[in-house]
Amino acid sequence: MSAKSAVLYRDLHKDPYTIAGASGLYLRLSDGRPIMDGSGGAAVSCIGHGDERVRQVIASQVTQLDYCHSLFFSCDPSENLSRTLIDSTSGNMARVFIVNSGSEAMDAALKLARQYYMELSPPQPQRTRFIARHGSYHGNTLGALGISGHKSRRSIYEPLLSPNVSHVSVCNAYRGPEEQETTEAYVERLARELDREIQRVNPATVCAFVAEPVVGAALGCVPSVPGYFKAMKAICDKYGVLLIFDEVMCGMGRTGTMHAWQQEDVIPDIQTIGKGLGGGYVPIAGLIAGHRVIETLDTGTGQYIHGQTYQAHPMVCAAALEVQRIIEEQDLVNRARDMGRVLETKLKAAFAAHPQVGNIRGRGLFWALEFVKDRETKESFDPALAVAMTIHNEGILQTPGIMLYPGTGSADGRKGDHIIIAPPYTITAEEVEMVVVAAQKAVDSAIKRLL
Ligand code: PLP
Repeated sequence: MSAKSAVLYRDLHKDPYTIAGASGLYLRLSDGRPIMDGSGGAAVSCIGHGDERVRQVIASQVTQLDYCHSLFFSCDPSENLSRTLIDSTSGNMARVFIVNSGSEAMDAALKLARQYYMELSPPQPQRTRFIARHGSYHGNTLGALGISGHKSRRSIYEPLLSPNVSHVSVCNAYRGPEEQETTEAYVERLARELDREIQRVNPATVCAFVAEPVVGAALGCVPSVPGYFKAMKAICDKYGVLLIFDEVMCGMGRTGTMHAWQQEDVIPDIQTIGKGLGGGYVPIAGLIAGHRVIETLDTGTGQYIHGQTYQAHPMVCAAALEVQRIIEEQDLVNRARDMGRVLETKLKAAFAAHPQVGNIRGRGLFWALEFVKDRETKESFDPALAVAMTIHNEGILQTPGIMLYPGTGSADGRKGDHIIIAPPYTITAEEVEMVVVAAQKAVDSAIKRLL
């Protein structure tokens, strides 16, 4: 073992580079070398790094109120943040619950769905099953991983995960439709699959269908085809099944609207949010519950049976609220949409003819390149080659470096390499150009090294 760190990193044999500081689009290594944060970490950074306003709000909040137990007390930061979030749904959602990570938010969402059925009149205690999608990633706690369909992330924990979960196909325009299949026929086929799965497990036992409106880390920025979520919602409604949207990665402005579902003409019963909520300044995530769910609890026990020591922490909420105020004041969600169009154009110009780039896809400032061995057959690379991770490593090595978020999907047992490009919404058109040039350099040197 060569690593010296006391930190338990992913690689026990090699410590990662040390980041000493960050400002705007850039991270700075301890040797001073700049790294462009081309993916905002894991699509987290949305107002850029080192914002002075957020720094000051954190300092003054700690001075005024460092902590109170939000199970028993309220405070202005959590009240104001929650009100802002409800307003951002145009009143379509009812209440907010704040936690510290996306995984916790997903666990809370699953439990809230369960509680909803226990409080219905009459209760439906037999509703214990969740249906998610193959290849999905919803977090790493046992509950969130338990509903995930990402085979490699699940594999060694399989015996610990809930058996009350099953998976249906994800909607993926690149790999999903059969030859000559129209979008409408594809959507109908996926809706029939969900219908059949609900029938198979017994409709009276199904609690919720869980999906990311735009698939993030698991497959790399895969939006659904038009009409898909409306069709899935219709199936959910047919059987009284709740719809949970995981917007931990794709939400909070990332796809060009505050909530990704606002582009789907579908309102979820429960949604989770994370990464862009605090923009990386604080660990924060949460759930937003819809009216049907809250009214049922309201007329039932009147209690929400879930609590955590650090829920709605005052400092965390104050920082996230300031991030959201900056997004609002600077019109950054529209900017994410506009800069996303610039990014799309530049990525397509740079990579459309690349022999190893099979698909360029995304929405807003949330884009991915999928790499293939053969563009005709769409055959993926041998996972042992670690194509995406090699591109990531090459990106960090160059000057200026670039952070590209690597991923290997395992939907339907198929492997596939992708990198995510998801810079802060504050990025300029010139910086978009720099990110794409740096990404091109990293891809080319990785492919040269591997092939
Ligand atoms: N859901 C999605 C879609 C995610 O991408 C992630 C994290 O990447 C999570 C949930 C879990 O969030 P966290 O890592 O904050 O626990």
